[in-house]
Amino acid sequence: MEKIPLGISQCLMGEKVRYDGSHKRNRYLMDVLAEVVEFRPVCPEMAIGLGVPRKPIRLVIKGGETRVLGVENPDVDVTEALIAQAEAAVRQLPDICGYVFIQNSPSCGVFGVKRYLPNGYSIDKEGRGAYAKRFMELMPLLPVEEAGRLNDAGLRENFLTRVFAYYDFKVQVAAAPTAKKLIEFYSRYKYQVMAHHVPSYFAIGRYLSNLAVNDIQKSSDGFFQLFMGALKHHATRKGNTNAMMHLRGYLKEILNTQDKQELSQLIDSYKVGHVPLVVPLTLLKHHLLKLDNPYLKSQTFWSPHPEHLGLRNHILEN
Ligand code: SF4
Repeated sequence: MEKIPLGISQCLMGEKVRYDGSHKRNRYLMDVLAEVVEFRPVCPEMAIGLGVPRKPIRLVIKGGETRVLGVENPDVDVTEALIAQAEAAVRQLPDICGYVFIQNSPSCGVFGVKRYLPNGYSIDKEGRGAYAKRFMELMPLLPVEEAGRLNDAGLRENFLTRVFAYYDFKVQVAAAPTAKKLIEFYSRYKYQVMAHHVPSYFAIGRYLSNLAVNDIQKSSDGFFQLFMGALKHHATRKGNTNAMMHLRGYLKEILNTQDKQELSQLIDSYKVGHVPLVVPLTLLKHHLLKLDNPYLKSQTFWSPHPEHLGLRNHILEN
């Protein structure tokens, strides 16, 4: 498999582009994830010509708007420049399948960036970096996370599930969508979507059964929106159990009583949190693969991302 292109805040790669000449190298991204993704770094503050070292900037609420102003000289306003840089980056990075931003930055932060009043008082942590905000507005379905939040196993697994699915859709469908490609694509994701969000599972089923083929691009876009929205819901213990129970239905005729009991016990143990997902999943997969059924074999639910990343191993699902 080719490496998946991923946008990244450049300082996370260990490059000394921060205002004070330092970096924020992230070991997980550089030492683990770099095996499967190809990073496309952007430092928006460098790109707008601020240089290193540079005077710090921050989010300030001024005239009812959030602006990015100089800390020492509030007459320096780089808001529009950062917005324009995001628009340029979207054009320059059409193939990325996700973006990892860094937290707490007035340019790159995604969640809870500090905002100030013109008098210098910090008012809240409700801001979003101007570059990240515009980028996300322009690519609303793109999987986005902050590096700091990737320390949470559940957030990390969900983000990468979406990155791999986004890439898969781009490769298999997006370049030249057809009704057949859409249906074949989704047939591989059915149990995964079921594990993530049952209402979306039904909504996508209805959408595809009434697919408007006269404007396939529009239909494909509509599908992708529903699909990425579904995966944004985390696959919970309840959802994974539900998907496994449905898959177990295929084994009714072929398992003996003892095998059925063993499988049911493991699914139940997972359901109450006594064993990790991999335990019942491995046994279920072992039995189902004996059926030699291409539809079952192709389910992404077995491995939404490369197994060696171990992304499902440390999740504490609800
Ligand atoms: S947070 Fe963004 S703007 Fe700041 S140094 Fe890192 S990449 Fe550059």
